Amino acid sequence: MKKLKIVIIGAGVAGAILARRLARLPQVELHCLEKVEPEDHSEAGTGLNVGPNAIKALQQCDAELAAQVCAQSLPWASWRTSLSDGTVLFDLPLESVADNAGIRIRWSELYDVLRAGAQGVIQYGCEITAIAPSASDPLRSSVSWTQRGVQHRLDDIDLLVGVDGRYSATRSAFSGLPPPRHVGVAIVRTLVEDTSGGLIDDYEQWFNGPHRLLAFRVPPGHVYIAATFPIAQGEQIHEEWKTEAVMRATYAPAGGQPCAQVRWLLDAMCANLADSHWARMQESEVLFAEPQRQVMYLGDSAHGMAPTLGQGATQAIEDACCAALIIEREAAAGRLDPRGWLDLVSVARTERIRFAMELSVQATDTLLQGADPVSGAHWKTEPPFLDQLSRLFRQVALGQRVAG
Ligand SMILES: Cc1cc2nc3c(=O)[nH]c(=O)nc-3n(C[C@H](O)[C@H](O)[C@H](O)COP(=O)(O)OP(=O)(O)OC[C@H]3O[C@@H](n4cnc5c(N)ncnc54)[C@H](O)[C@@H]3O)c2cc1C
Repeated sequence: MKKLKIVIIGAGVAGAILARRLARLPQVELHCLEKVEPEDHSEAGTGLNVGPNAIKALQQCDAELAAQVCAQSLPWASWRTSLSDGTVLFDLPLESVADNAGIRIRWSELYDVLRAGAQGVIQYGCEITAIAPSASDPLRSSVSWTQRGVQHRLDDIDLLVGVDGRYSATRSAFSGLPPPRHVGVAIVRTLVEDTSGGLIDDYEQWFNGPHRLLAFRVPPGHVYIAATFPIAQGEQIHEEWKTEAVMRATYAPAGGQPCAQVRWLLDAMCANLADSHWARMQESEVLFAEPQRQVMYLGDSAHGMAPTLGQGATQAIEDACCAALIIEREAAAGRLDPRGWLDLVSVARTERIRFAMELSVQATDTLLQGADPVSGAHWKTEPPFLDQLSRLFRQVALGQRVAG
């Protein structure tokens, strides 16, 4: 039997999950090429809240891997929103809108556990030098790379999966990177040692006008902090904003005292400003499959997502589980047709992703210039928003084949 040649570029969140599953298929010759070395910890400075929908998807696709991920994390079980003086606006148990908890985890820990799950499959330290359509067949593609000084090339790839993140070289090589749509919010993220003495635990937000602090505890012994402030669309983040005085003036209540959590968060953030990650929230147009070629995108390469509801890595996990389940099912049934797989994944995922993107932007309302956190929090306690949140967390779309 001639095997189908599949190449995965990138072993991040989506790539590592997909590589683990596809490596088990007898009909597939799999190559997974990752840029960094196994000991790379460049994402160690960030924590992630991963939504209940991702855990539900992973449990359905790969219960063993889901258990390993959960073992390295803490449960994300509630969402509390307060004013920066400590006045609670709402306190939502996620079990009221989800079938299971989400998780809180260090980004580097998530990479470690997912990559360990695909041990022996991922080739590390690969520098891609060319990605192009095959000379002999434009549906197929070829990839060249160097690994520790040695040049390699694969031709006639039946399915190329570009899971190489937001600045995807794969998507650049074929249809080009989509232009970002800025949401109008800047975000500063940092991971600090937990010296709060129990002040910070599950997912919480504190508002001073539209300026928001968000924090939660992640194992082992750290607190992840994400501070946001409004910014004009397209405006750059100025160096002079990155000072202690500006941060304190932005997040401490003007006419009153900050609550104990906000005091601790401000101290911790100001002590770590130099190591913080500064970015502007943005999203970008969805593309799961090249229209003319057998090339698939998943996760950040397929869609940029405003991070307000913690759906970036979350949807990357859903995407990977969906693609893995579809390919496994089709291959088992003898349907070795990558073009058909691409269509099935696009149909299963596009509407779902657009919904997650739209809801993430809607939930950003309280972070925009002039927003009132009290009314913004209020509508999030009412049935229309809670129904949407329940749809996001419960109705994962994994491409089940409809009978008939
Ligand atoms: C600071 C920060 C905080 C975040 N917080 C959250 C959160 O709380 N919750 C959440 O759900 N999401 C969060 N996200 C988003 C989330 O991290 C991403 O959406 C998620 O990692 C996307 O997964 P992915 O598999 O598409 O890409 P990635 O995880 O980025 O993986 C891409 C992989 O491809 C590799 N790669 C890149 N280029 C090449 C190349 N040319 N050749 C070979 N390999 C390559 C990379 O090394 C990497 O391993 C956050 C993002 C940031 C930046």
